[in-house]
Amino acid sequence: MADDLSTFIAQSPLCSTHEHTEIDSFYQEARHDILTHLFDNYVIHDLYSAGATSQSIEALLDVSNPDIGSRFSAVETAWQHIKMGGFAEAVRLAAFELFEIENITSESLKKASAGTNLVGGPGERLRLLRDVANLDHVQVDPGRRPLPLEMIGQTFFHYDLNVFDLCNGTPELSELTEITGEEVDSLRTLALSIEKLLEGSHKYVVALKSQHAYKRTLEWTERSDDEAASALTSWLRLGANISEADRLCLGDWCTSYVAKLAAKYNLPFKLHTGLYGGNNFMDLKYIPAGSLSRLVSRHPDTRFLLMHIAYPYSDELIAMAKHYNNVAVDMCWAWSINPIHATDFVQRFIHGAPVNKLFIFGGDALTPAATVGYALQARRWLTRCLRREVTEGFLSEKSGVDLAGFLMMDNPKDYFDVAAKSAALLAAGSDTTLREAGSNPFRNRTRSIRNSGRS
Ligand SMILES: [Zn+2]
Repeated sequence: MADDLSTFIAQSPLCSTHEHTEIDSFYQEARHDILTHLFDNYVIHDLYSAGATSQSIEALLDVSNPDIGSRFSAVETAWQHIKMGGFAEAVRLAAFELFEIENITSESLKKASAGTNLVGGPGERLRLLRDVANLDHVQVDPGRRPLPLEMIGQTFFHYDLNVFDLCNGTPELSELTEITGEEVDSLRTLALSIEKLLEGSHKYVVALKSQHAYKRTLEWTERSDDEAASALTSWLRLGANISEADRLCLGDWCTSYVAKLAAKYNLPFKLHTGLYGGNNFMDLKYIPAGSLSRLVSRHPDTRFLLMHIAYPYSDELIAMAKHYNNVAVDMCWAWSINPIHATDFVQRFIHGAPVNKLFIFGGDALTPAATVGYALQARRWLTRCLRREVTEGFLSEKSGVDLAGFLMMDNPKDYFDVAAKSAALLAAGSDTTLREAGSNPFRNRTRSIRNSGRS
């Protein structure tokens, strides 16, 4: 029989603090079918790791081929090998929730495909996230700027402002100029342009976000304006041929400048730490959360939110959150990477660091069907985790429910000031001058989030 704790976690709305949910027009254009709903997500990286070929994975996701059975059977051997893994578990949960499939086979997929109305139509994206996954809101990292026009006038989809190019030391200057009207030809004008970018966007976005750990070390070094000016000159002259030393220098300077503005505008600064999505290119030296200690010490007034529990360097992340009052932890992606590790992490965290610095869920997914699976998975393992705490006598049933509610809803809503951001998005929706203003931070996006061209 269901107990209070599992009933609460299963039924409570949940905030998702990190997704890459596709913009609606691109979502509808993709014409999703059962196989993309279920497999167009991180599970393909486990399939590849298990031996599936890239051609078979590409074919699996090819919606132009209606032969569901043969598309799946080409990866079925690899699927058998990864079935126990976290990515596959989320697929199995979504398959049951969305298609009533108990056991994923070519036959069950074919049968469910014939009867489903989930074909990527209008309204489906929101319905899956809000009504099926029962999410309170989602925070979308759109991969690159500008912010999509569709974010204004609604309150479910919140957005991060992505600053990867700045932190990576490869600032996209023409795009910055387009948004801010500021021509960048010196460090002073670069600073002005970044300032204008934040000035125009800060009211509407929930956070700043960078995933530069995919392209460089998280290790940060203080750089003088003179050093950064010289590195910027190289970037202006050489572009992608900039030396590694100059790129790191410019990236460090920009990261610090952005961190300063994050404090000024009270925006959390989300940083990717830990495991890479994809296969065969991870540099383990780049990703430990502890590499950020110099940066977070240098900016004590900036709230840093370190993502993905820095898998596998999770204990040092707990030490960071314990020691630094400006460091918090986002479990986005963590349950699906490895649910056993994530469960263990939550227990270690709540017995080691303040719980108001723990954010419990983000599916980190492009498709809403994937987020449905990841949300079910997070609910399932959070229940197991807190049930263990109750059984071992650390929490009463009632305090377990209270803690779950705090982690799932109250804490993220408070930390990201979601009510104020929602009010700003609604106000922007009815502000007709904003739509026309050249300097407004929103644009009709011509590129999908999938093809944002960044890690
Ligand atoms: Zn992400």
